[in-house]
Amino acid sequence: MPAYHAPLDDIRYLLNDVHDIGQLSALPGFEDATPEMIDEVLAGGATFCEDVLFPINQSGDAEGIALVNGEVKTPTGFKDAYTRYTADGWTAISAEPAYGGTGLPEMVRFVMEEMLCSANLSFSMYPGLSHGAYSALMSHGSDELKSRYLPKLIDGTWGGTMCLTEAQAGTDLGIITTKAVPTADGAYDITGTKIFISAGEHDLTENIVHLVLAKLPDAPGGTKGISLFVVPKFLPTESGGLGARNGVTCGSVEHKMGIKASATCVLNFDNAKGFLVGEPHKGMRAMFVMMNGARLAVGLQGLGLSEVAYQNALSYAKDRLQGRSLTGPKNPSGPADSILVHPDVRKGLLRIKALNEGMRALAYAVGIRIDIEHRHPDAAVRQDAEDIVALMTPVVKAFLTDKGFENTNVALQTLGGHGYIKEYGIEQYVRDARIAQIYEGTNAVQALDLVGRKLPMEGGRLVRRFFELVKGDVDAAAQVDGLEDFAKALGASFYQLQKATMLLAEKGFANPDEVGAAATEYLQLMGYVAVGWQWLRMATVSRQKLAEGAANARFHEAKLKTARFYFSRVLPETATLLTAIQSGSASIMAFAADEF
Ligand SMILES: Cc1cc2nc3c(=O)[nH]c(=O)nc-3n(C[C@H](O)[C@H](O)[C@H](O)COP(=O)(O)OP(=O)(O)OC[C@H]3O[C@@H](n4cnc5c(N)ncnc54)[C@H](O)[C@@H]3O)c2cc1C
Repeated sequence: MPAYHAPLDDIRYLLNDVHDIGQLSALPGFEDATPEMIDEVLAGGATFCEDVLFPINQSGDAEGIALVNGEVKTPTGFKDAYTRYTADGWTAISAEPAYGGTGLPEMVRFVMEEMLCSANLSFSMYPGLSHGAYSALMSHGSDELKSRYLPKLIDGTWGGTMCLTEAQAGTDLGIITTKAVPTADGAYDITGTKIFISAGEHDLTENIVHLVLAKLPDAPGGTKGISLFVVPKFLPTESGGLGARNGVTCGSVEHKMGIKASATCVLNFDNAKGFLVGEPHKGMRAMFVMMNGARLAVGLQGLGLSEVAYQNALSYAKDRLQGRSLTGPKNPSGPADSILVHPDVRKGLLRIKALNEGMRALAYAVGIRIDIEHRHPDAAVRQDAEDIVALMTPVVKAFLTDKGFENTNVALQTLGGHGYIKEYGIEQYVRDARIAQIYEGTNAVQALDLVGRKLPMEGGRLVRRFFELVKGDVDAAAQVDGLEDFAKALGASFYQLQKATMLLAEKGFANPDEVGAAATEYLQLMGYVAVGWQWLRMATVSRQKLAEGAANARFHEAKLKTARFYFSRVLPETATLLTAIQSGSASIMAFAADEF
């Protein structure tokens, strides 16, 4: 049986020592969000994830969801867990107090998100989608829509969805055909079919609030003609109760590779009553609020699964006795040594550990900037934070989910055949991790967003700011005894990233295929450097803590050893990525369709 322990020591280290969570309580509205208070909330969240959600993860995967007469039944234990989840206030943690939220920093939800995904990714999808719907309505809904829907989404009695995808329109939302026709009462009749809708139908909440992309009759073509609508399953009454059943039904559910306890639905909208969110034809703007938050959350899914897979692979490796150490027996009284003596097994586990801790640090570097971006009194500081969040959103989404899938595979390999069978639970993590590379914009699309939109944005201001931050930390560490090697390694990869950036800027003008051909490798290169940047920051902090005689010296020594592993064994992969980028698009575009 697998086990999960929330990595609270690492979380506390990052929040308190590396990212200075204390700065948040100085922001307006966060006065009560002291580090002690945040710690208490997260400790409670960790217990909930370990004791309530993790025990129904494997059983939820085995049982899956069932569609009975158009109603989805979630697996045994999910409804009870959801009732406790809402009763404990987890749906409200970072939501606006004016609508019933607890108003804690977004950072707290970020940390909780990782633990939820480790414990039970399928479960996390239901409140995750509700939070996305809440965010889009909060930023673009009218006061009337907000007062009608937000309190119910926040207290969790109603759930939310995002309905973008149609059979013929996945990545290319410009070709959706769902229609919205204005009606005399100021509402709209929505007609069309959406596919792959997560949490589209389920028994956890009394109502479901669908956010639906559709086109008005006078809509211009492409994404410029898309509008956003709220389409509730049950129409709310004036007093906020449940009124008539709306014209939206679940036609079928998908049978899929992973996240089997998460309902992925075909939704048929048949003259369903909808209400416009924001302005006509400006739906993508509102939907992007939801999508940007969701992209970061999906990145945390990759990290969460990688963490739980690591914990279980490590515990197995310590117990499994096979073969002898190459340098002589380490367990001479036993029949064999533990597989942890073998360099190859160690290398796999250390790779996951180094990536997990570095990716967590990077995710939090983004999370804390979201709160700064929203609340800081100084506009320049807000802008600075916003720039890094915007630049890093596709990196966090794609890098963390690519590494999440790779890492769960490495974890499976650690168990040999026992990883491939169901008993130890690792194969579920591999299956569950795969979707995160696909939804919320495939990772190829994230890479195109990075190189095509984020790099040129504001005349390159975002990427220049990121480079300044990395350079500042590299230069500082180069002067510190014991950190020079790390600074040198990161400096070399950083140089490769700068070189790739220049190359794309030069070649992209002449031939856009050059950018398209390089995008995925470029995102990976930036991901390795961004994680390396965080490892340099952690090494700097831990070195200082050791110099000050910190009581938990072994923790900080392990951080420095892990940093050394990252800089010597993982980061050098940037050289190969640069070589691939430099090779250009010619070898890719040379093929005619019938030559493949
Ligand atoms: C389990 C699950 C849950 C989902 N949940 C939701 C949900 O809640 N709401 C929702 O609206 N959707 C949801 N989706 C849909 C998901 O977001 C889409 O599957 C995804 O956006 C990709 O669209 P597609 O599957 O049509 O692939 P396509 O768009 O057909 O892409 C196929 C391949 O071509 C590549 N490609 C396409 N266009 C380009 C391009 N311009 N440049 C480079 N490469 C390109 C893609 O990267 C991909 O590899 C879900 C899907 C699944 C499987």
